[in-house]
Amino acid sequence: MKHVRFTIMIIMFALILPLCSGYQVEAASKRDYLKIGLKVGSNCVSTATLKSDQGFLLGTIDGRRFEEGMPLPAYNEIAISSENGNIVVRDMDGVLLSADMGSSGCIMPADYEDEGILYYDGTPYRGGIQFLAKSNNSMAVINVIRLEHYVYGVLNSELGYTNPKEALKAQAVVARSYAEQNLGKHSADGFDLCTSTHCQVYKGYSGEYDATNKATDETEGELLLYDGEPVSAFYFKNSGGYTQNSEDVWSGKLPYLRAVKDEYSPSYPWSTSLSFEIIKTKLESAGFSPGTIESVSINGYNNTGAVSELKIVGSGATVYLKKENIRNVLGATIVKSNMFTLGKGSSSGAGNGTWNISNGLKGSESSANAKLYVIGDSGKAKKIDADGLYGSNGQVTIVLGSRSSESSQTVTTGTVEFNGYGYGHGVGMPQDSAVEMAKQGFDYKEILEYFFADIEVE
Ligand SMILES: [Zn+2]
Repeated sequence: MKHVRFTIMIIMFALILPLCSGYQVEAASKRDYLKIGLKVGSNCVSTATLKSDQGFLLGTIDGRRFEEGMPLPAYNEIAISSENGNIVVRDMDGVLLSADMGSSGCIMPADYEDEGILYYDGTPYRGGIQFLAKSNNSMAVINVIRLEHYVYGVLNSELGYTNPKEALKAQAVVARSYAEQNLGKHSADGFDLCTSTHCQVYKGYSGEYDATNKATDETEGELLLYDGEPVSAFYFKNSGGYTQNSEDVWSGKLPYLRAVKDEYSPSYPWSTSLSFEIIKTKLESAGFSPGTIESVSINGYNNTGAVSELKIVGSGATVYLKKENIRNVLGATIVKSNMFTLGKGSSSGAGNGTWNISNGLKGSESSANAKLYVIGDSGKAKKIDADGLYGSNGQVTIVLGSRSSESSQTVTTGTVEFNGYGYGHGVGMPQDSAVEMAKQGFDYKEILEYFFADIEVE
């Protein structure tokens, strides 16, 4: 019985294909599709269901263009499985519809040209779904989607829809530019971008809101350009007062990713403690063999005041962590930025820790230029000498370590306290500052021009 129906389907396919050939030209003239990996790598699946109110269209994705193939208007739900290297499509009664969609097969909702929505295992997506057969009867699930619709699905996850409109528009431009510049980032695995923070957080149609879709529409197609080429539009949460040169965080020097003294950064203080034992474990996970940790110290700053090198002396080896590797090794959500100072951690109250006071001038800047001010209740500022400065809250008196004091930046026992400002790698646009600038009346182009040097928005 099943065999008979399969034969009928093949005949239908043969009859319908020539009728559809007229659509292929039209489809090829439409805008390009990108491929977003929904279930990839260790998250590959063996079966999936697709739902669409309007039925389906089986076709192929050839490069970045969708070629229409067999329509399935009578079906609202179909089942897909990976079987011996083939992508098999059946109806919900198990009747075979396609014995193998092939590696370029793609399933669209029939109304894909008209804002159609496809449900993959219950989750709605714009565009279509491609399945790639993998080993052990598993398959990768790829969302095939137009750039503007992809930005719809990213924007709220990267900057919440309740934020001011001009900040959302700035975020739409950087998210679109990032996607454009990073197309093929996962090409070795058959898709462009993943759905996590590794690329940009993407939630499909469920992540869409009126405000974020509107910000996308109002900047439709706009990219950040340098010398006419799309840029690597990096962004992050909070600068701590200064953004960073790209080469001070990673290795490549890009002319539009320059450090900016950020006048709009809302204060974002953080503090965390790491025991020597935990630091040892983290270093070992990263492939180092430090032995017993003996001391942790800051070994250099860049000219924005960010830590450029952390020196960790162990009984087995001395480890130098440079630039973004400090956060990569110790944990980027733990050491939230490189704008930190060190203190000796203690569980017996703040009065026993080392408190640091800073004027933001560190490293290569001359100490002769350093100025430190205190601000009284009246708001009046008074310049003071940093050395030998004490502070008291009435219960404890503390030494406010001067910036030239090596002792305040080397910890030799137990637990290291990281006290810092800002969150993220520091390169490109700080989202908190984009929001603040929008609140102060700047438009999205002014926001982007403030953080990216010599760029155009087009
Ligand atoms: Zn990725």
